[in-house]
Amino acid sequence: MTATSEELKKDEAASVEAVSSQTEEGSGAGDDKPARPEASKRYKLSELTPFSDIISEISGETINNCYQCKKCSNGCPITYAMDIQPHQVIKMIQLGMEKEVLTSKTIWLCAACETCGTRCPNEIKLADMMDALRQRAEKSGYSVGSKRASVFHRAFLSSVEKYGRVYELGMMREFTLKAGGVIGKVFDGTLIKDAKLGLTMKKKGKLPLTADKIKGTGEVKEIFKNSQKKG
Ligand code: SF4
Ligand code: SF4
Repeated sequence: MTATSEELKKDEAASVEAVSSQTEEGSGAGDDKPARPEASKRYKLSELTPFSDIISEISGETINNCYQCKKCSNGCPITYAMDIQPHQVIKMIQLGMEKEVLTSKTIWLCAACETCGTRCPNEIKLADMMDALRQRAEKSGYSVGSKRASVFHRAFLSSVEKYGRVYELGMMREFTLKAGGVIGKVFDGTLIKDAKLGLTMKKKGKLPLTADKIKGTGEVKEIFKNSQKKG
């Protein structure tokens, strides 16, 4: 929904008021500088906050530091399949092109390999930024740029949340059911291919029939809970 100019003015006035009350509370007599409010109180994650601020807040990366040198895209191994290149994603975030970015395939295809982050002269970790974009896309209500990739992503995360690790068989079962089912796999010709791969993995002991939880499953669940709150 687009905010009216009156809503924007009200929000701006509320932000100014919040910041000045923070400043008054924090500044004692004789202080040279007024105390700065905490970062979390300076930003409010709402539709009225610029898109780049929202993504910076969720990812912890300073999106506006990018100066478009393209080193990230030149090193990314997945660009051949992406509809928007990584350096273009960051520029579009700066320009506030929220819908275009959140409905792109790129955010679901990023493999989080972190090659881009290690090449960036401004130390922007694009993998973390892509993660923040996926979180935002899930909550946005926009149609997903790559349904299969997003279903796979969710199946992978749900397995890690439950067991603290990936339980391959459970993950593939969830993915198959949500991405079109067995009938869909018959039609797209992947059923036989997957069955052969499954048998090879089973023979090599890579496909256990039951899931083993790791010791720190509780801690992993806590990380998921905190990340939900943040997003
Ligand atoms: S490498 Fe860093 S500074 Fe260069 S375009 Fe990519 S994100 Fe921007
Ligand atoms: S983390 Fe994602 S965007 Fe960066 S190089 Fe790897 S696949 Fe490409």
